[in-house]
Amino acid sequence: MVYDTIIIGSGPAGYTAAIYASRGSLKTLLVDGLQIGGQLIMTTTIENFPGWPEGVLGIELMNKMRQQAERFGTEIKSGEVKEIDFKARPFKVKTGDSEFEGKTIIIATGASARWLGLPEEKRLRNGGVSACATCDGFFTKGKEVAVIGGGDTAMEEANFLTRFADKVTVIHRREELRASKIMVDRAKSNPKIEFLPNYEVIEILGDKKVEGLRLKNTKTGELKEFKCAAVFLAIGHQPNVGFLNGKIELDERGYIKTESNSTQTNIPGVFAAGDVADSRYRQAIIAAGRGCMAAKEAGWYLEDGENKK
Ligand code: FAD
Ligand code: NAP
Repeated sequence: MVYDTIIIGSGPAGYTAAIYASRGSLKTLLVDGLQIGGQLIMTTTIENFPGWPEGVLGIELMNKMRQQAERFGTEIKSGEVKEIDFKARPFKVKTGDSEFEGKTIIIATGASARWLGLPEEKRLRNGGVSACATCDGFFTKGKEVAVIGGGDTAMEEANFLTRFADKVTVIHRREELRASKIMVDRAKSNPKIEFLPNYEVIEILGDKKVEGLRLKNTKTGELKEFKCAAVFLAIGHQPNVGFLNGKIELDERGYIKTESNSTQTNIPGVFAAGDVADSRYRQAIIAAGRGCMAAKEAGWYLEDGENKK
């Protein structure tokens, strides 16, 4: 079967594209990837998604989006897209064990946690190094832990960890925090959270389990050891574009480049929506909105070819 559109990714962008495409009578396939529901399943309550005045659990929001897409006939396949043949028409989308054909493609593969690049990160991945407090916070009961980063994720992770840990120290490489005021205020008013500005991690200490960090002062160069039983990295995300093997044009930061006020990529019939094409806003509501745009643009492309966007 040839699908009108194949959507890659099951975050807010992918599911919203699926809702609009299938409700607009396009034969729609969505490949959901390894993280079903996308980044929001890693968090607890979402407080800024319109329509949920009391907040909504990330997992609940994403399950409802999935149900809504399925209600209009979106077919969902498990698996990770490994390769796309952009030269073929229809396009060929390959997962590990299957190949699908689509007249248009919507790439909504989002972004993944960034790591510091230290050798100990891999070695201690099951020994106290994590990039997901929701996943691993439980194991920090009664311990002292560190969160690295100064953005909203760092504030959120730190707050969440205080449910379990005795003390959480937010270590940030500069004085000013990037996080929004509301998130900073919340973290600063939490008595279990301390801030250690102007330090970067140069080594994670411990053989089988995290025992501490070697820190370097970014202003003075001073080195010191910091004791902790776990470290949570919250240093941002990078777009998931590896499977494209350089076949789609990216911007200078590595995100998929789209035309102005459009989700159209450099290949006609291929659209990109959400965090994978957005280094600026990186919010669920924006991803959902761009998913809607991508579905509309895929529909127009099918009706009129390249002439109308
Ligand atoms: P993602 O949600 O990243 O989804 C990407 C999807 O693509 C996943 O399903 C993944 O499995 C799939 N995928 C990746 N590669 C492949 C492949 N090769 N083949 C198939 N599928 C693939 N935003 C807010 O607005 N409010 C918040 O409160 C908020 N809290 C957050 C808390 C945390 C801890 C984090 C990390 C982010 C938070 N964000 C929040 C940001 C928000 O999660 C993102 O902006 C949003 O999820 C982006 O949606 P997306 O659909 O573009 O991508
Ligand atoms: P982010 O805003 O990019 O912040 C990343 C932080 O990590 C920055 O403080 C950065 O420092 C630091 N950092 C980056 N690389 C580093 C390195 N190598 N070593 C040390 N520190 C490093 O990422 P984010 O916090 O994950 O947020 C991503 C998006 O999701 C944002 O749009 C955010 O608003 C959204 N989000 C929203 C909520 C919410 O609304 N509740 C919650 C979580 C996330 P510098 O500041 O010095 O660059």
